[in-house]
Amino acid sequence: MAASKRTIIKNGTLIDGVSSSAVANTAIVIEGNRIASVGALPPGAEQGADVLDAAQQWIMPGMIDGHVHISSHQGALPGVRFTSTPEYATLWCARIVGKVLNAGVTGISVPGGKWFVDAAVRDAVAGGMIEGPRIFCAGRALTPYGGIFDNSTPANPQGTDDSVGVLCNSIEDYLRETRRQAQRGVNMIKVADSYWGDTQTISLPDLEAVVGEAHRRNLPVCTHSRGSGSTRDAALASVDWIFHADWATDEDLDVVAKKKIPIMPVFTQCQIITEQDEKMGFASAMRDRVKRQLDANYAAIRKARSRGIEILSGTDSGNAAAFAHGAYHGREPELLMKEIGFSAMEAIHACTRLNAKTIGLDGKVGVIAPGMLADIIVWKCDPLADIRVLQQPEHLSLIIKDGRLVERGREGFRALRTEPPRANVTAQG
Ligand SMILES: [Zn+2]
Repeated sequence: MAASKRTIIKNGTLIDGVSSSAVANTAIVIEGNRIASVGALPPGAEQGADVLDAAQQWIMPGMIDGHVHISSHQGALPGVRFTSTPEYATLWCARIVGKVLNAGVTGISVPGGKWFVDAAVRDAVAGGMIEGPRIFCAGRALTPYGGIFDNSTPANPQGTDDSVGVLCNSIEDYLRETRRQAQRGVNMIKVADSYWGDTQTISLPDLEAVVGEAHRRNLPVCTHSRGSGSTRDAALASVDWIFHADWATDEDLDVVAKKKIPIMPVFTQCQIITEQDEKMGFASAMRDRVKRQLDANYAAIRKARSRGIEILSGTDSGNAAAFAHGAYHGREPELLMKEIGFSAMEAIHACTRLNAKTIGLDGKVGVIAPGMLADIIVWKCDPLADIRVLQQPEHLSLIIKDGRLVERGREGFRALRTEPPRANVTAQG
């Protein structure tokens, strides 16, 4: 909820989300939930204001993670017999969204979840019932037979009702589900092609039908696409952003570039799998498989970048137990630097200003400038000197979301890396 008072951040070093270098900050004045001024302190501004001193600290826009799941996965808890129910999933989400905010992430884009749990949690956060980041969510992912979220069996040809995907096998199915989700208040539509991109399961006419219907209802469309044809057709159908694009060829990427569609590679999930061991449920054969796929993805994204395609930042946190909320949101910027050649500043821009579109707030958040929504974080260490700072919430000195200082305790930090016993480790999209 919007604060009504004035908050001032003085001193420190400002990384504003646009400029190519950091500058000494004089004062950022926040009125209510918006930034009123940046620079010289207006006379008398300090009177009646909350004044926060950021001397020797680094100020930047709150991070936006463009790919986080909240209701997709629930861990086991002693005494809970049915973890994958709408009731338990909702409680699970209510518990974890605070961890995300505590990690300096003030906005998340949620491409797929169970039932309409994510939309309910979004509304509870927006209404001030629970603490969490701004949430912009899809409903269940639209996926056909053979798509990543198809869990149908001969005995259950529609799949289970707690699947993160909903089966759509005709244009009529795609249109009905898009309309149904729009009516239930989702923010965007997620479409999901095959798991690893070795086959294309969604046709261009299917994609065009979804995009046409969703855009008419002012909903963006994003797609899980690791394949070649699926990436090219997603661009031809004018989806709003494409996840992964591992096997995109030069010709596919030329189409993506021509259509000016951003790609969000979401390296973090696969990178973490390659670093996990059997204890976490990842057998070495699977790790090798994922490593080959990840190397292809790194190569494709380097080529995408050389074509001027905008690269966004997402982690797939919450996809499975191994990707704990609050722990990895800052990992993608490190991978964008190490594997793709981003500067630290470019990596920060990817997870702030550029990602604003993934939460429906392009030009309204992700930049520290007059008129912008006041989502601001302050670090005790310089993230430009070591980008890994973004993965270390213990170095955060303050978080402001929507103009309001978020109350945080040491307990919050301890809880960040504590997860209940692990159950499902199946990583999906
Ligand atoms: Zn995902």
